[in-house]
Amino acid sequence: MRVVELFDRVRERWGERVAYRLARGERVREIFRDELEHYFDLMRQAISSGDPAWLNDVLEQWTEARTQSEREQREASLFPILGHIMLSLNHVAREILNPEDALDLMDAVLPLHAHALQYSSQLETDIYVHHISGELEKARSTLERLDRSKSDFISVAAHELRTPLTLIEGYASMLGDIHLNEAQKMAQAEIMLHGIGSGVQRLREIIEDMIDVSLIDNDMLKLNFQPVWLNQLLGIAHHEISAVLAERDLTLDIQDFPGYNEMIFADPERLYQALWNILSNAVKYTPNQGKITISGRILSGFIEVTITDTGIGINPDDQERIFEKFGRLGNVALHSSGKTKFKGGGPGLGLPITKGIVETHGGAIWVESDGYDETICPGSKFHILLPIRKESPDEKLSKLFEPLGEQRQTKRWNQRRKS
Ligand code: ADP
Repeated sequence: MRVVELFDRVRERWGERVAYRLARGERVREIFRDELEHYFDLMRQAISSGDPAWLNDVLEQWTEARTQSEREQREASLFPILGHIMLSLNHVAREILNPEDALDLMDAVLPLHAHALQYSSQLETDIYVHHISGELEKARSTLERLDRSKSDFISVAAHELRTPLTLIEGYASMLGDIHLNEAQKMAQAEIMLHGIGSGVQRLREIIEDMIDVSLIDNDMLKLNFQPVWLNQLLGIAHHEISAVLAERDLTLDIQDFPGYNEMIFADPERLYQALWNILSNAVKYTPNQGKITISGRILSGFIEVTITDTGIGINPDDQERIFEKFGRLGNVALHSSGKTKFKGGGPGLGLPITKGIVETHGGAIWVESDGYDETICPGSKFHILLPIRKESPDEKLSKLFEPLGEQRQTKRWNQRRKS
């Protein structure tokens, strides 16, 4: 076939020209030449058979070979490459062939080029549509999660707030009803006032948790860095929880781990709150007669504190979710407002707050557990990684300002710290 012969005559110079224009560097050019040879082989087949579909496989391979980001951004489309192949043929054919042969060859190759453009454009559009559908799906599931979180908030808040409110209402109305002698009245009133007091305290705690979550969400949690010793914080927590441990027949073993007696700079109140949340959860989710162990170690630049319990455990699938707002597991309606009762779940804000506190300190928190099983009780192990700071970041900053003589800056910083 005459056109195939013409094709063979221009092929070598054509290949060199395209490779020279499109591939920079010897090595890249070599690889590109191999690819091009393959394309030319298929083009030759397409010319002799009259079927442009011979090019499809190589076009698919080239489209696939583009990097993920190139495909997503619709960059580096095959169009420029195909355009250069065609332009180079036009030049080379005019250089090597007489005008009539050059026209014949162009006549045969042009429909193949049109097919290659159309087919690769279809492939690229498919890939782009697939990518966009994936993005849409991601956006849809994020919206769904946000919506769920909103309705979770309403049901959890309503449930959690109603329990202490009912308590307050009940005792308050009983107070109004008592018709007893003075001594009896005093004794009864004391019980009722205590009931009202605990209801109010629980309401305050829930509202404070909500405020903390919103501070963390808005990056507004301010830390007051001071020298802190973990042994002191854990000692206070042990003392605070000892009555509950006795009541629930639980053992708490706080080990003298490396870093336990070390002074670090942290916000003592917030750090205590974080440790308390993990410790009280360990108590809540461990059945009576269980054991809680606090240990740790020094890693480069960090102290790792671990709180291990012999409780009901957490499914691997839920181990990230529990750190999200309202990530408490189980049915909202079954949640009691008990703070230390076995499985006495709360609003599901404790862990997100703890995570926020630890991360604002520059640390990290995560959990390990073989899974959830109330019979076997595989237990959970919470890890808290805290940076070993030997000075407050506030001081570091003011030291930075001093050499520059920026006393005003320091003053403003200190004022902000005080406010
Ligand atoms: P809650 O107020 O429900 O305790 P948290 O944010 O403190 O909320 O905890 C979220 C959820 O994580 C809990 O509802 C519970 O399902 C799970 N969880 C937390 N700590 C433990 C633990 N030590 N053992 C088993 N499950 C836990």
